[in-house]
Amino acid sequence: MKEFSIIDSFFKAQSHQRKDVILGIGDDAALTIIPQGQALVTTTDTLIAGVHFLVNANPHAIAQKAIAVNLSDLAAMGAEPAWISLSLSLPIADEVWLSAFSAGIAEMTKFYSIQLIGGDTVQGPLAVTITAQGFVPPEQALLRSKAKPGDFVYVTGYLGDAGAGLDILLDKLQINDGDNKAYFLSRLHYPTPRLLAGTSLRRLANACIDLSDGLNSDIRHILKASNCGATIHLDKLPLSKAMRGSVEANVARNYAVSAGDDYELLFTVSEEQKGKLELAMASTNVCVTCIGQLNGIANKLEFRLNNAVVDEQPRGYQHF
Ligand code: ADP
Ligand code: MG
Repeated sequence: MKEFSIIDSFFKAQSHQRKDVILGIGDDAALTIIPQGQALVTTTDTLIAGVHFLVNANPHAIAQKAIAVNLSDLAAMGAEPAWISLSLSLPIADEVWLSAFSAGIAEMTKFYSIQLIGGDTVQGPLAVTITAQGFVPPEQALLRSKAKPGDFVYVTGYLGDAGAGLDILLDKLQINDGDNKAYFLSRLHYPTPRLLAGTSLRRLANACIDLSDGLNSDIRHILKASNCGATIHLDKLPLSKAMRGSVEANVARNYAVSAGDDYELLFTVSEEQKGKLELAMASTNVCVTCIGQLNGIANKLEFRLNNAVVDEQPRGYQHF
């Protein structure tokens, strides 16, 4: 198969179509309309075989995760998603692989009402780069830099499940219960971008970030950008039923503190907004948990267990 027939058969026709796309795949570039009063939000993430997924990973899951991690970045800005672009590097034009991969892309575009508007297709080591774009009223964008001392720290969903999934794949964790094992692997392969939570946090949260490298790593970005410190209560970290039922409490906490790939949102809320926040979140499909509080001691991150300060916790994933 040649480049253009790959694009035509697998990508052009299958995507969900939006009214704000004047020109999608097929010309030198796409033309799209940005709604009045909204800022365009743009983010890019790359997944590379051997780094972010195993070379023989399921192409459907690769496609869906590549999109989900980008939508998660939009969610962390409080944005609603609109368009994606796909840059695909493939060693060979394997039609079975492409067919599963493009089905994964198409399903995501329909589920999230977004359109694939362009991209690039090249021969090379397997790698997938997605650029996602969306909208947010500029004054409502959720920044890392707007957290305040005294803010309460919240996370969506459960922490550590994707990390447990990764350890299962790497044979570092043995899970006998079939349902729990499938759950951990699905949290690793099919993370849920918290888009509804993200837009609901506009005007309620002071700062927000998505957890890609792990709590202990990512929260520091907010502390640094906002000149704050934080106390995080390890006994308050939300753990799934599968996690609680599968490993010792301290192992579960280690996953929740340091493992990456959960793509939950971590956000901070002032005391005054706390009530409204909890009300707003009740109408989304995701639980939120208060795990700690910010203070004015710049960059000091302290973990406590049953209120007693504990030593340095394991860090999240770092590329370099
Ligand atoms: P050019 O050579 O002008 O950069 P390309 O040949 O790379 O254009 O792409 C032709 C069209 O197909 C463009 O509209 C481009 O955005 C789109 N396209 C290429 N690869 C992909 C892909 N993997 N997914 C979606 N659209 C793609
Ligand atoms: Mg061109």
